[in-house]
This record gives sequence, structure tokens and C-alpha cells, in this order.
Amino acid sequence: MDLIRPMPLQAILAGRAFTPHEEIADAVVLVEEGRIVDVGRRDQVSIPSSASRHDARALAVVPGFVDVHIHGAGGHDVMESTAEALDAVTRTVAGHGTTSLVATTVTASTEQTSQAVAGIARWMKSSYAGPDGNQPRAEVLGIHFEGPFISSARRGVHPLEWIAPPSPDLLKKLLAAAEGTGRILTLAPELTGAPELISAARAAGLTVSLGHTDATYAEAMSAIQRGASHAAHVFNAMRPFEHRETGVIGAVLTSPAVTAELIADGVHVNAAAMRLLLAAKGPRGVVLVSDGISATGMPDGKYRLGTFDVTVSGGVCRNAEGKLSGSTLTLDHALKNIVALDVKLPDALAMLTANPARLLGLEKRKGALVPGADADLVLLDAELGVAGVMTRGVCAL
Ligand SMILES: [Zn+2]
Repeated sequence: MDLIRPMPLQAILAGRAFTPHEEIADAVVLVEEGRIVDVGRRDQVSIPSSASRHDARALAVVPGFVDVHIHGAGGHDVMESTAEALDAVTRTVAGHGTTSLVATTVTASTEQTSQAVAGIARWMKSSYAGPDGNQPRAEVLGIHFEGPFISSARRGVHPLEWIAPPSPDLLKKLLAAAEGTGRILTLAPELTGAPELISAARAAGLTVSLGHTDATYAEAMSAIQRGASHAAHVFNAMRPFEHRETGVIGAVLTSPAVTAELIADGVHVNAAAMRLLLAAKGPRGVVLVSDGISATGMPDGKYRLGTFDVTVSGGVCRNAEGKLSGSTLTLDHALKNIVALDVKLPDALAMLTANPARLLGLEKRKGALVPGADADLVLLDAELGVAGVMTRGVCAL
């Protein structure tokens, strides 16, 4: 792949474009200074003679993927929060089509979490995280707090000792450390004090996500009425669906206002559960996430997730007790796995582009091939393999 610095004007010629909802044959995407300035059929877009041309007519161009639940990649965890770690994570996932992400914490001490999010916020504001450079790198859009306000009964691998009862004061502290970069809070709505916490999180501009929860249907519904609008890795770390007490899963599946994360790696959730979720939520209601950890893009072995050790074997991550501990999934593979369930390509693409962007309120800037959006593009071959990527105009095409 040739590495190309951002150019004033670039024209990407592709066999097809998916915006993602609309398919355009024989397409051109015109990019200037890291932004999309025009998208359309080749006979409808005039390409200035000064533009450098990338001929990708054997490929499809689609928006870059947006991962709202990712802990790490390339041997590093976002909670290390050093430039080296965040650089490794953002470069590794960019190679798999992820052009922006929400750095996700695991439950840890207040001090550890505060330090981690302060480091991530610092990095986001540094020029180092900017679009300049000669390699594609995913943009960090903010922080997803996975915990500490979660259920000890459904904690998965989150350390019991750091799980905290809902506290608007503690949330305030964590958000202060994050310096305005907090975006998503995953919490268990059945805990005492959760309603006040949901209100405080909404008032602070966070998306409230139901997760690691033992909530009943009624408890989950009352949280949704209070403003919870998202659910973390649905089916995983939740009270199971039972036909007379459908629990949080029943509430999420039947509430159109709630988007549902899915880890489509074929390990966390089986195909029937994936089909059920897709049927219940429809193409706009599902958000594909990786829940990827530091081992993503690395060989099997021992790795860290947040503050604890996990073992990766055959690409599957487990803690010392054998519990699933995140994944090594990348979103390009999630896309293939969903298309294999007979989901139409534009719908599948929306689940990792337009839907997560809308969840973050960034639909004008991310997850779409529209004028004014960031030039975050992925080139896909006929087998949906990533053949090239552009992040804010920086490309390896
Ligand atoms: Zn989790």
C-alpha cells in the first residue's frame, strides 16, 4: 500500500459506493482537506484537473466504521492511556476499517479510571491525535464508561472489588477527569440510586446504556422512560430472557428507541440469537461493536484487559475462571458475519457506520458518505475484505 499524506484535493473512483443507505454505481468521492466535498455518479461529479485520482473501480467505497465499544488492540489497552498505547490501538483497528471509536474503560478503582480517562482526554486534545501524519489512524471520539455502576451478578469479568453503587457524585468526578470527553455510560438500572444516576448522566450529555445488568423487564422499561437509549452487548452479561419475566432483553428487543450492541463474532452470541436481535430491532436498531481487547490483531497468548490478565486461545479471550473477556473481533469480520446471515449489504453497513454515528449525535460528521462529513472511507473487495482505508483524508489505498 502506498502511504499518502493529506492532499488538497483527491478523487476516489470506485465501482460502487454505499452511503451506506444508497448504492451508487460507478461512483466518485471527492475529498478536500480531510472532508468529503462531493459524492455521486462519475458522470454527475466534475473532477477538477488538480485532483489526484485513486482508481478503485474494482472495489466498493463505504463509510469508515465507528466502534462504540472497544477496549484495545495491537497489544495495548486504552486504559494504559499513553500515546504509545493509543497510537497502537488506533492504527491497528484502522487496518480493519475502523476509522473512529469510543475508547471503553473496564471497571477499575476511581483513581485508575480517572487517570486513564484523563490520559485519553489529553491524547485526544494533542496534535498527535490529529489527522496529520502518514498513516491512517482511527479518531478517538470520546470515552465509554463500562462500569463501575454495574451488577455484581452480571459483571462478567469486571472486577467485583471495584463495582460501585450508583453515585452522581462519583460520575461527576469521572466526567471531570475526562474533561468533556465522556460519551456513553453503561450501567445496571436495577441498582438502588440508578434512576438519579441516569438523570445525572443524561443531564451531562451522556448516552445511557443498559448493560452488565440483572434488571427485570419493569426495571429496564423504567430506565428507558428515564432516557436510557442504548444497550451494551445485548444477550451478554444480562438476565436471560424468560417468557414470563423477559428481563432487560425483553425491554430492549421491544423498545424502538433503544439501540442494541451486538458482538457478531459467532462466539458471544449464536446465529439464532443474532437473527432474533436483527428481526426485533431492524436495520436501524443494531450497532455492531467489537468489544475488542489488546489481543486484537495479535497472536494467541497472555494479555491485559484493563487491570487484569486474560488468556487468548484460538482468538477467544477468557479470564482465569474461563469467562469470556471481550473479543479479538474486528469490525470488518463483524460485517462479513452479519452479511452471512442474509442481511443486505447497505443494512449491514449501517450497523457499523450510520447507526453508531447517530447514537453519538455525529451523523453529519461520521458514518456517512455525504458532503461535509469527515473523509473516513473504506474500500471493500468483492469478499468484503478491506482493500484500503482513509481516515480524515489520510489514506493507504
Ligand atoms: Zn462488557
